[in-house]
Amino acid sequence: MNDKTTVDFLKNKSNRFLFVMIMLCILPVFLWTIGSWRHAQSLNELKQTLDSELKLFSSNIVSELEKYEYLPILLSGDPLLKQLLKKDTHNKDEIDQVNRHLSLIQNTTEVSTVYLMNKTGLTLAASNWDKEDSFVGKNFKFRPYFKNAMQGGIGKYFALGTTSNIPGYYVSYPLINNNEISGVVVVKVSVARLENDWLNAQKEVFISDRNDVIIISGSTPWKFRTLYPINTKKRDELIQSRQYADANLIPIDRGRETTIDDFTKRLSIRTPTAREGNAEGWDTVYLRSLPVIGTDWTIHYVYRQANVRQDVINILIIAAFSWLITVLSILYILQRRSLIASRLEYQERHQRTLEEAAVELEKRVERRTRALSDSNQKLEDEIKERQKAEKDLHLAQDELVQAGKLAALGQMAAGITHEMNQPLTAIRSYADNAKILIERERLTDAQSNLGLITELCARLGKISGQLKVFARKTPSQKEPILLSKIITDTLNLLENSAKLENITITNNCEQNNQLVLGETVRLEQVLLNILRNAVDALSDQNDGLIELNLEHSENRMTLLIRDNGPGFKDNDLKHVFDPFFTTKEVGEGLGLGLSISSRIIQDFGGVLKARNHPDGGAVFSIELLKARDG
Ligand code: ADP
Repeated sequence: MNDKTTVDFLKNKSNRFLFVMIMLCILPVFLWTIGSWRHAQSLNELKQTLDSELKLFSSNIVSELEKYEYLPILLSGDPLLKQLLKKDTHNKDEIDQVNRHLSLIQNTTEVSTVYLMNKTGLTLAASNWDKEDSFVGKNFKFRPYFKNAMQGGIGKYFALGTTSNIPGYYVSYPLINNNEISGVVVVKVSVARLENDWLNAQKEVFISDRNDVIIISGSTPWKFRTLYPINTKKRDELIQSRQYADANLIPIDRGRETTIDDFTKRLSIRTPTAREGNAEGWDTVYLRSLPVIGTDWTIHYVYRQANVRQDVINILIIAAFSWLITVLSILYILQRRSLIASRLEYQERHQRTLEEAAVELEKRVERRTRALSDSNQKLEDEIKERQKAEKDLHLAQDELVQAGKLAALGQMAAGITHEMNQPLTAIRSYADNAKILIERERLTDAQSNLGLITELCARLGKISGQLKVFARKTPSQKEPILLSKIITDTLNLLENSAKLENITITNNCEQNNQLVLGETVRLEQVLLNILRNAVDALSDQNDGLIELNLEHSENRMTLLIRDNGPGFKDNDLKHVFDPFFTTKEVGEGLGLGLSISSRIIQDFGGVLKARNHPDGGAVFSIELLKARDG
């Protein structure tokens, strides 16, 4: 499984659980292996340590004991001792002399005791002659070291002193007088110092002899106990030999034991001080036993197992922690890797999405650009079309205007004729009257008629002048004019027509002296047009009535011309100021009157409006600016 597969595998939660379970199963095996390895290693280390210590201890003992082996040999040639043995009876001084001699030797050599026995085993003199437990007079013929020396050899023996009750190592050698063994000199060496050393070093070390009796030990309770239970016969023999004095030779308490190798055992052991039948004091220990070279002794080292176990426990704790840290580290690393991998994956995905979005955006922009340029093209085409249509429209409009102009011209000609006809008819009738009056010689009346003719001619001149103005638009010349006068003058022009149609004209404006801004002729043209329209509207009625009123506001003056005719139809009212709108018969109206009038009033800065009166009939309002006085 490579890294990536591992990461993928552990991404899954249940896989992670499986991994932890496997690791948990591995844990006991791992701990067992580590524990046994550490146990073996600890034991080996222990063995090495114990061996080196045991060797040191045993060589110490051997050298300590061997150190004094020469002494009895040396003393066997001592003439003073020899002299004493030559006689069977001795006086006190002779004995005393040897006692002091031996005491001196003992002091010098630092041995425990030096003493001299005759061939019967009786102690003749001893270095401890002056002590309570003096050997003098005691018989030690039962001691093997005596027997060995009496046979001519060196005697070596470890025993518990029967008199002193102090254990010691006895070395003996025969004294020869006249080629015959006459006695034995013995040196007792104490092992107390060694034992003290072990005790101080707190080492549980002891030495057993060939009878498996513990003879030297740093700890007193172990002393003169046997390593194993011994049979009664052997026990009796040993007690009889007095080697261990009055010691009971009780075996030490041993429990379950395992042999680790030839020299090492693990066993349950109870400290001898613990009371019988009490589990207290039992301990599992390692017992390492090595022979003491040059003797028939064995040296033992008691090592508390707890130390080895502690080593194993320590290593197991470390191993368990290492396992935990390893598992956690693996999980952490894998988790991190998985995190990094998923982050990378996310980044890649994000990058890909971004790229795709960028591509998509580009495509969209391209599409939009294309669409835009298409619509741009379309727009341009449309603009071109519009321009063309506009051009066509202008052309059509021009044509229409042209046609309109022509029509207007024709209509205007008819209108002009209509306008001119009335004054001309009046002039003709005044001229006819004048002719009759002259014939009758009524010259004053004739003159008056001629004056009227002159006035009418002037009026005709004015009308043609007005037409000239209409044909060529001249800038308006506003001046203060007296509205009431213009109204009266205009009504005079209409008087005849009104009379003909039986129309009553009520002028309520005569008293007014307000000046307004305008131009007399053009304002008369407007009034005339409106009044004539009213007369036309009333032509079918017998009770025709036209009423003129004035209204004031701060700056303006409004002339209201009301008739009691049919008024405007709703639809017509919207179009009455449109050029060429007329409801009259062909040849009777041009439909220009109101549109021209409206334009004239606008030129004066005023407004011309038309409406139906609630009681019937039409109302025209001519709103004009008031002229300032002066
Ligand atoms: P024309 O008099 O040549 O028809 P105008 O522009 O003067 O042209 O008048 C337009 C129309 O307004 C008239 O044809 C008429 O139908 C309507 N009109 C004008 N004055 C009156 C009025 N006092 N009563 C009813 N209709 C009127």
